[in-house]
Amino acid sequence: MVYTVITGASSGIGYEAALAFASRGKNLIIVARRKDNLEKLKSEILHINPNLDVVIRTTDLSVTENAYKLYESLRGFQIETWINNAGFGNFATVAEQNLNKIEAMLHLNIESLTILTSLYVRDYANVEGTQLINVSSGGGYTIIANSITYCATKFYVSAFTEGLAHELKLKGAKMQVKVLAPAATETEFAQRSLDIDEFQYEGAVAKFHTSKQMAGFMLDLYDSNKVVGKVDGITYEFELVDPIFNFAVRTTK
Ligand code: NAP
Repeated sequence: MVYTVITGASSGIGYEAALAFASRGKNLIIVARRKDNLEKLKSEILHINPNLDVVIRTTDLSVTENAYKLYESLRGFQIETWINNAGFGNFATVAEQNLNKIEAMLHLNIESLTILTSLYVRDYANVEGTQLINVSSGGGYTIIANSITYCATKFYVSAFTEGLAHELKLKGAKMQVKVLAPAATETEFAQRSLDIDEFQYEGAVAKFHTSKQMAGFMLDLYDSNKVVGKVDGITYEFELVDPIFNFAVRTTK
């Protein structure tokens, strides 16, 4: 039996992605802090397809030690696809940003993602059919005002993941490595970024996708041979493209 791991599956893009992969008959390991939401997702999945196995892991991945513990706890499972989707943003100027929140964001968006990616690649790079998808952002390719630090975390995700895709291709590895870069998507993202209890996208945001649409785009990326699946920030079209950053191979004389 093989599994798809999705971090940040308790709401938004991760929740819908879990349903989308379940619709493809994939067994799931769903990860987040909110157990109730994961239980609800599990029963929704089992309602759609009672033959699937859905495993819940509750953990706080802003504590990087927990990334190692999560990976260790999954040693008994054969993992076909790993999706690092958990992440959050912050809308504030650099001078005004809450550094406790920023530290947690750096731990989650950068460190835990790097640890989980590295461990997964170490074990599975040469296993046929495996994939790693890291969720970046349009803000991982364009710096957006008032979200500088968040964008910098996502530039890291884009650069790290594109670089890894190159590295594995050069080695002839079997694993495919991909970056999903959503633009505005209707989830809990905005309310968390603004530290408010509710946010209505309709009326406040000119263009956005629903998390269900974004999960569909993730499946398109999963099915393609391209490395980057990115929403165009102007047209809001979803594009599957080759790596965007320059890549150089060091040559020694
Ligand atoms: P969301 O609804 O807020 O979902 C975020 C997910 O991450 C939740 O399941 C949350 O679960 C999990 N998470 C947050 N902190 C965590 C922690 N400390 N430990 C473990 N899990 C944690 O927002 P979303 O939009 O779906 O976000 C998914 C990804 O898309 C993020 O990486 C985000 O940066 C990216 N993205 C979003 C947008 C957008 O406009 N929505 C645009 C570009 C990129 P718990 O709170 O239960 O732990």
